[in-house]
Amino acid sequence: MSTMNQFISEAQQILSKEQIFTDITRRLAWGTDASCYRLIPDVILSPRNEEEVQKLLRLAHKLNIGVTFRAAGTSLSGQSISSSVMIVAGKQWERFNIKQNGEIISLQPGITGARVNEILKPYRRKFTPDPASLQSAMVGGIIMNNASGMNCGTHANSDKMLLSARILFADGTVLDTGDEESKEQFRREKPEFLKALEAIRESVIKNEPLRQRIIHKYSIKNVMGLNLLPLVTFDDPFEIITHLMVGSEGTLAFLSEATMKTALIEPFSASAMIYFDTIQTACRAVQRIKLTPAVGAELLDRKALRSIEGKEGMPDYLSSFDDNVTALLIETKANTKEYLERNIREISEALSSFKPIRPIQFTSDESVYSIWWSMRSGIFPSVGGLRPAGTTTIIEDVAFHLTDLPEAASALQQLLEDHGYADGVIYGHALEGNFHFIINQRFDNQQDIDRYEALMNDVVNLVVNRFDGSLKAEHGTGRNMAPFVEKEWGKDAFEIMKRIKLLFDPKNMLNAGVIFNDDPTIHLKNFKSFEPTNRHVDQCIECGFCEINCLTSGLTLSARQRIVVRREIARRMKQTPNDPTIIQLEKEYHYLGNITCAGDGLCATSCPMGINTAELTHDIRHDQLPPLGQKIGKITADHFSTVKSGLRSVLFLANTAHTVLGTKNMIWLANEAHKMGAPLWTPAMPKAYKMKKRTQPDSSNQLKVVYFPSCINQTMGVAKENPDQTPLPDKMDGLLKKAGYDIIYPENMESHCCGTIWESKGMFDIADRKTFDLEEALIKASENGKYPVLCDQSPCLYRMREKMKRLKLYEPAEFIETFLTDRLDFHPIDEPVAIHTTCSMTKMHLGETLLRLAQRCSRHVIVPQEVGCCGFAGDKGFTHPEVNRYALRKLSPQLEASQVKYGYSNSRTCEIGLTTNGKIPYMSIVYLVDQCTTPKKKED
Ligand SMILES: Cc1cc2nc3c(=O)[nH]c(=O)nc-3n(C[C@H](O)[C@H](O)[C@H](O)COP(=O)(O)OP(=O)(O)OC[C@H]3O[C@@H](n4cnc5c(N)ncnc54)[C@H](O)[C@@H]3O)c2cc1C
Repeated sequence: MSTMNQFISEAQQILSKEQIFTDITRRLAWGTDASCYRLIPDVILSPRNEEEVQKLLRLAHKLNIGVTFRAAGTSLSGQSISSSVMIVAGKQWERFNIKQNGEIISLQPGITGARVNEILKPYRRKFTPDPASLQSAMVGGIIMNNASGMNCGTHANSDKMLLSARILFADGTVLDTGDEESKEQFRREKPEFLKALEAIRESVIKNEPLRQRIIHKYSIKNVMGLNLLPLVTFDDPFEIITHLMVGSEGTLAFLSEATMKTALIEPFSASAMIYFDTIQTACRAVQRIKLTPAVGAELLDRKALRSIEGKEGMPDYLSSFDDNVTALLIETKANTKEYLERNIREISEALSSFKPIRPIQFTSDESVYSIWWSMRSGIFPSVGGLRPAGTTTIIEDVAFHLTDLPEAASALQQLLEDHGYADGVIYGHALEGNFHFIINQRFDNQQDIDRYEALMNDVVNLVVNRFDGSLKAEHGTGRNMAPFVEKEWGKDAFEIMKRIKLLFDPKNMLNAGVIFNDDPTIHLKNFKSFEPTNRHVDQCIECGFCEINCLTSGLTLSARQRIVVRREIARRMKQTPNDPTIIQLEKEYHYLGNITCAGDGLCATSCPMGINTAELTHDIRHDQLPPLGQKIGKITADHFSTVKSGLRSVLFLANTAHTVLGTKNMIWLANEAHKMGAPLWTPAMPKAYKMKKRTQPDSSNQLKVVYFPSCINQTMGVAKENPDQTPLPDKMDGLLKKAGYDIIYPENMESHCCGTIWESKGMFDIADRKTFDLEEALIKASENGKYPVLCDQSPCLYRMREKMKRLKLYEPAEFIETFLTDRLDFHPIDEPVAIHTTCSMTKMHLGETLLRLAQRCSRHVIVPQEVGCCGFAGDKGFTHPEVNRYALRKLSPQLEASQVKYGYSNSRTCEIGLTTNGKIPYMSIVYLVDQCTTPKKKED
């Protein structure tokens, strides 16, 4: 047995089988971070607690097996990939502890930065490290990369905010530097370690030029190599250990918990977008404002501005600028309006000798400055979105001392030009001397790799030899810059780094190859392929920002990982079509990628390129549809009312069995049947329902609405245990009439459907035909769009809105808020209620509408945190309930803690899954509104 097999076999004694992935598909998928590199790990492990990590580390230590830790995998320098063991400490590592009224917070490594800010918001405090990836990047990765962004500079980065760390060394030793007992134990058990650390510190302190060099290098942002700053800042060995963790990229120890200071949110802010004639002038302006209360100055060079010219919402005057114009987006913040105005005066005075192209104008009006900030945030997606297929977008990350900034910035521009990167844009955090440049790069032929190599060599020359700057300011050294650490830092400093590594990780088992790598060309190896695979996803840069919204991330595959696998299949099909691995990948992808994709498209909402991986899934389903499936799809579409009758019979039978057997026996029976392949029944399953024939309204009332109860609500009633036994169409009918509306029902309602059912199965033609038929019926019913059209199921309405452009279509919360609130008196209840925003509501930006409506009805509305798509996905909750269960794993503890008894949403199928997994009944918001309203009293 190989050592790795022995490791895996022993790891199986430590973790359950759901925590270990060895299949080729997931190994490939997890071999990707946001960098341009790929390594395939032998095994991916997903431990849930420190004890499990400790056992795994001890095992790896015993067998000399290399280990890489992973948080969100958004790193850009190739530091969160592995060709050995990958230990993922992301989604299961999200606990936190708030101390001193929010001034201090202890965090597990898997919480995203954005979530930390949400947690701190009620205390009016924030997590200061601010990488642009904050929505996705997790505390472990942020600290271990010493990630930073527009505002935190070097004064509020992880190094400055970290108070203590709970860490696991390579041999499994645990040390909590915030705990006296733990430190005492460490002193007793590891005296040689502390002695050696002290010796390293002394070597620095006694070497004055080195000490000065360290101070100088960290006067600007720098994440090249290990963090040497603690050796000149602290005497206490535990402080040194704590701060050595920052920027160590998982090469020294596992971070199990970090305790950090937080900062007050300054509520008042103002920005100014100022255009200078050249990049040098803009940089000179930055030098001037460095000592003013500006908290950020984002530079956008001409190419960056050009990338967003003409885009929606962008100012027209951009196109009139000449080739050298450079913008500075300056920001200032304050605790009061008066201080804000004082700040603006100070900054403006500092810039008074400059003659910008347009007058300097600070504004605290969000509607104005949000346009400027969207210009800034639009650069990356614009450049990446326009790149040719097969290329990827590389974001480089250098920093210069402010004194060098004007010269260095123009030299950098020239360098990109010289190497033929005509589309290379420069932008970045100029106040910190930190520039990013983005290039679109191919790695599939030697010529392009050579071009990249030549560029990197010249970048190293420029940044290191000419300006003594930082080759990486924020993104980490990784494998990308490992060959240049010594060059940048010099021999003495690099020796110190190596001694630290040896002390912490004598067997070089933690993230080997990252930061320290003997191969001078490692940055030119292991490039991933960006083989085009599907037009909907070819622009993906594999950044992983989709993963926060992909409900199967961590269960099967994430949206990014689906694309990675499809690209690899495409690459192999092109290069080695007979490769048996293709069959294996396709086979595994069927469940991991296809079956379990909920197809909700929420991934697009956090993708910088707006990529909707559901479209890839739908295309795959379409391409793989067997002729029989197509035939069945057509039959169900042609005889839809018969299908609905059949479904009613099934629901009737299930409900009868439930009544006869009782809930307990029925659950047992259903689970057994599900194990044999039957759809899962739960007590949340609705009873059958058939709408009674409705009479068309009296024509004298001008308040009319066309109401199309979705086919689901025409068939499914309420669950046996629901507190209100009125089916939704009857409830809606009652509410509309209460508000004085007459209801028009489209003709032949039984046969109509919006088409979503077929679309999700990849039967696009049938789906479109059904949509068209429904649209015709609605046009007729609404007298050519004269009356609004209401549909009671948000996913159906979403598709209708996408496809039917001739009608005014409304989802219930939106319809009620727009048309009924003035016609009803609301009597809010004190009882807490929960709401769930469906994916389609999110995509239609109706989450706030649902919240406002619920708040009219209850004084205590709970919006469970971190519950996105419920994963029911129309029918997946019946066929693959594990997806639904995983997506809603955070729901029920929050409902329990808030003592909520009822939940409200806007999709019948989602409500089944929410009821099952939330363990309280979920109903349409219509029930709550009906419960809390009476017809509007006429004023006397
Ligand atoms: C489009 C885009 C924009 C970006 N913008 C910025 C930016 O503005 N500023 C910036 O600094 N970065 C930026 N990044 C890079 C990246 O997002 C950040 O560095 C981020 O902090 C990485 O966090 P992560 O959770 O993804 O960490 P990962 O990539 O998972 O890991 C980062 C490193 O930490 C190690 N690690 C993770 N967890 C642990 C643990 N528990 N114990 C020990 N080691 C661990 C890993 O081994 C790895 O070396 C950007 C990335 C992208 C794709």
